[in-house]
Amino acid sequence: MSTVTGNRGLQLEEKLIFELNSPGMTAVDLPNPHEITNVESRLGNAARKNPIGLPGLSEPQVVRHYLRLSQKNFAIDGGLYPLGSCTMKHNPRLNEKMARLPGLADIHPLQPKSTVQGAFELMDMTAHWLKTLTGMPAIAMSPAAGAHGELCGLMSIRAALEARGDARSRVLVPESAHGTNPASAHMCGYQVETIPATDQGRVDLAALKGMLGDDVAAIMVTNPNTCGLFEDEIIEMTKAVHDIGGLVYCDGANFNAIVGRVRPGDLGIDAMHLNLHKTFSTPHGGGGPGAGPVVLSEALAAFAPLPYVVHGKDGFDLIEQADDAAEFSSDAKPYGRMKGFHGQFGVFVRALSYMLSMGSDGLRQASSDAVLNANYLMAKLSDLLTVSYDGPCMHEVLFDDRFLKDTDVTTLDFAKAMIDEGFHPMTMYFPLVVHGALLMEPTETEGKETLDEFVDVIRALAEKAQSGNTQDFKAAPRYTPRRRLDETKAARNPVLVWSPGRAPELQAAE
Ligand SMILES: *Cc1c(COP(=O)(O)O)cnc(C)c1O
Repeated sequence: MSTVTGNRGLQLEEKLIFELNSPGMTAVDLPNPHEITNVESRLGNAARKNPIGLPGLSEPQVVRHYLRLSQKNFAIDGGLYPLGSCTMKHNPRLNEKMARLPGLADIHPLQPKSTVQGAFELMDMTAHWLKTLTGMPAIAMSPAAGAHGELCGLMSIRAALEARGDARSRVLVPESAHGTNPASAHMCGYQVETIPATDQGRVDLAALKGMLGDDVAAIMVTNPNTCGLFEDEIIEMTKAVHDIGGLVYCDGANFNAIVGRVRPGDLGIDAMHLNLHKTFSTPHGGGGPGAGPVVLSEALAAFAPLPYVVHGKDGFDLIEQADDAAEFSSDAKPYGRMKGFHGQFGVFVRALSYMLSMGSDGLRQASSDAVLNANYLMAKLSDLLTVSYDGPCMHEVLFDDRFLKDTDVTTLDFAKAMIDEGFHPMTMYFPLVVHGALLMEPTETEGKETLDEFVDVIRALAEKAQSGNTQDFKAAPRYTPRRRLDETKAARNPVLVWSPGRAPELQAAE
């Protein structure tokens, strides 16, 4: 059913910008510099010897090219984005406006400290809110994202253990954890061991206790966990780990389900990252920008990385060197830095704008609504789909593929069929503890109308699969510019460089 152009309706088959090249074409008509000055003689050896290799395009071609590319991206501004674990929620435009204020957007990290006192105050206020909401005494603001925060927290744990002459070797991670958890622990030099889950989708406390020993540096728990369930034995877990001298890392990516209701500090957590780009409303996806500040307990407060903002003698100060840290506070033992400069400042602005405009009551309302929406989906779908664990969920609802048994339709086919219906799929095949997982996170910013449309589509597809109509699923997606890509090769052998003559060859291979 293909057309001569490969287009379908108004969805254009966009060429690469190099393929649009009309040599000599420019968007602006400027006089040739060689005709008005003797540029060449002034450039000397610095003069360019070879053509620059940029394509020639007119202004409308450039505008249309980038507009069309932007429309190939699915975005939260375009529709529901129910990716479990990712918290794709609407970002109030107010936050963007604040981040673009010239006094915040146009400053530079190397400016004299006296000229950026307001920026330091903003970082300090953001830190204050995050410490208050989590009930933790200290924070490292610089990590760039959640996974970077995990590494930061583990490095603080390592530094604290080494400082007491008790370097340990093992880190325990639950079976359902996000893949970044074991990766961060491994990267920090620890041996990673898996804590099994109960048939209720939670950490098996007895198994955990059996694995503890004086060589365990830390456990990493996610709460609420990646099955969308609250770890209700968390206090007993943290106590057991502290009893053997270990520390507790919490993956706080799901803080949006409990913010304003539960303070991780009260549960015995020692370090936890906050994905500002999830809970605190910053656009994310496509690799950034995000921010992953890490809150730290009393036990780890001295081991926060550099740099950090403090209240100095003459206003705010930024501590950038270990000597200055020790001078400011004799306890401080920073292990170094996580990145150049102070952290993702633009994201701090958005997060603070969000927290100030919501207020603590608003944040509590947001987490309640996120949980309500996920439970609404569960209630509307559980007669047709198979819920993995009984009982109410937190901010995301987990189904497995038992409802597709005997249909020959897989979770992947089901997700691809959703695309044809104009819906972004939920998270698939994660967490790994259930077979053929479908993890849906509606977030608090979706209204009942949108959720009902989503429910209707899921119900219609589930009924279609169960009625034995498999061809449409196997052929999906049919209405996208590309059909099914090779899932492995698309990630392992991406073709990222264009060279002349490449495109026809690629077309032939498709
Ligand atoms: C998103 C997420 C992470 C990683 O966060 P990034 O900011 O993407 O690095 C870690 N754990 C869980 C549970 C997550 O959902």
